[in-house]
Amino acid sequence: MNIQSKPAAGQIMEAKGIFVDNKWHANETGGTVDVYAPATGAVVARIAAGSAGDVDRAYKAARRAFEEGAWGRLTAVERGRLLLKLSRAIEDHADELTALEALDCGKPLKQARADIVACARYFEFYGGAADKVHGDTIPFLNGYLALTERVPHGVTGQIIPWNYPAQMFGRTLGPALAVGNATVMKPAEDACLTPLRLAELAAEVGFPEGAINIVPGTGEEAGAALTAHRGFDFLSFTGSPEVGTMVQIAAAKNHIGCTLELGGKSPQVVFADVDLDAALPSLVNAIVQNAGQTCSAGSRLLVEKSGYDRIVGAVAERFAKLTAGTPDMDLDLGPVINPGQKRRVERFCGNAGNDGIEVIAEGSIADGVPEGGYYVAPKMFGQVPRDNALALDEVFGPVLSVIPFEDEADGVALANGTDYGLVAGVWTQNANRATRVARKVRAGQVYVNAYGAGGGIELPFGGMKKSGHGREKGFEALKDLSVVKTIVVKHD
Ligand code: NAP
Ligand code: MG
Repeated sequence: MNIQSKPAAGQIMEAKGIFVDNKWHANETGGTVDVYAPATGAVVARIAAGSAGDVDRAYKAARRAFEEGAWGRLTAVERGRLLLKLSRAIEDHADELTALEALDCGKPLKQARADIVACARYFEFYGGAADKVHGDTIPFLNGYLALTERVPHGVTGQIIPWNYPAQMFGRTLGPALAVGNATVMKPAEDACLTPLRLAELAAEVGFPEGAINIVPGTGEEAGAALTAHRGFDFLSFTGSPEVGTMVQIAAAKNHIGCTLELGGKSPQVVFADVDLDAALPSLVNAIVQNAGQTCSAGSRLLVEKSGYDRIVGAVAERFAKLTAGTPDMDLDLGPVINPGQKRRVERFCGNAGNDGIEVIAEGSIADGVPEGGYYVAPKMFGQVPRDNALALDEVFGPVLSVIPFEDEADGVALANGTDYGLVAGVWTQNANRATRVARKVRAGQVYVNAYGAGGGIELPFGGMKKSGHGREKGFEALKDLSVVKTIVVKHD
């Protein structure tokens, strides 16, 4: 059994080791980590437990590729063509990758497929962009030509989470490779089967040795070894604020840059004049997509008091119809990723109950889901006091907090009233108010009468405040993953 196909019931995909220089190698210790299917709770794969030695091996391969290998010699247009080839290969393998992503993460099939399509789209976007990244000439002293060029950092380390492994593979590696970095990725132990398979596909379409290296394993071991390694030139991290702090400390010790994407508590600011029929699908989907395990989940529904009963009633009616099920059932949401995440969601809900916060609406779990799966029924709570954990902290599950506000100024203050600032939605038919509020809300992305539209691969994405720093997606990512170099030439 290998990683290329969905295992039959009871079969286990065996670890192939670490992926370095386009080949599988046994990991240093031979240790493995079990991978569980969230839909059933069964072990479906064993991955290599990467160690510091494995990270160093992957790093050295990347360094060789960058300094003296074929990768470092490619022109921008050649890199772009490789990314485009990978994009097409992902599309060609969409069925296989969808099944793998759904198995590994428990996602409904339609969500898994959307993620694979997005992954292909990342490589398409950055493949097209690779030869359009350029510097400037600068008016300077007489007798001098001054110019800048954008050069790659060198070897970049990518640590990605379990919520969108295929999308994160494209989101971080697309721009890193487009500008010419060589890369080492540490995917999350809970969901790394598609990144491993995608790395194989990259080798098949012709990426030179060492451009993409993957070291699976635990965060404590492989992740910590990657951040502590002295050789990397840049780190990209997406995950929890706690680990983000460790990554930033490690980057500081190495005097290198990093981007951190640390999640959010994103508000949907809904005014009484909202076009409710148009808004409802987005207001609900923004919190249940991927079972709420989305950094940009619209987890706070902030509603103007004068329209509260009508708006909240309509959202609740729709919310109560939500159903969680297996990937094959393909319902509104799947299970959460692991038992720890299930306990975390249940703890938030239990505490809210103890604090006397009412459940306004509750979805259900479909009949016939396997007993060992990590299912939680979606819940909508209101009115959540502004100082309650449910109003302030990221749950990372299908839990919506409803909070009323008085007027525009209060709505903006409430939207800005958490430590986070990743994404926000503003819903009103008053264009002036929409524009004012969009400009006052402190978030990396603000949508007006929309939320997270179309995946937004073209749109710069990242946090303000404690949601992190740096920008991924769009052309901005190419800036973060490269560095400006100034060249001054004296002439007669
Ligand atoms: P996490 O520990 O921050 O995991 C993110 C990535 O960091 C994974 O690849 C993880 O590896 C790795 N990692 C863990 N410890 C590390 C260390 N000491 N050094 C370097 N890398 C390390 O997140 P989690 O525990 O999976 O989830 C906890 C909470 O984080 C969630 O409940 C949610 O609130 C938040 N979260 C946010 C996002 C987001 O998109 N912003 C994504 C995931 C989670 P392993 O998974 O193998 O341990
Ligand atoms: Mg984990």
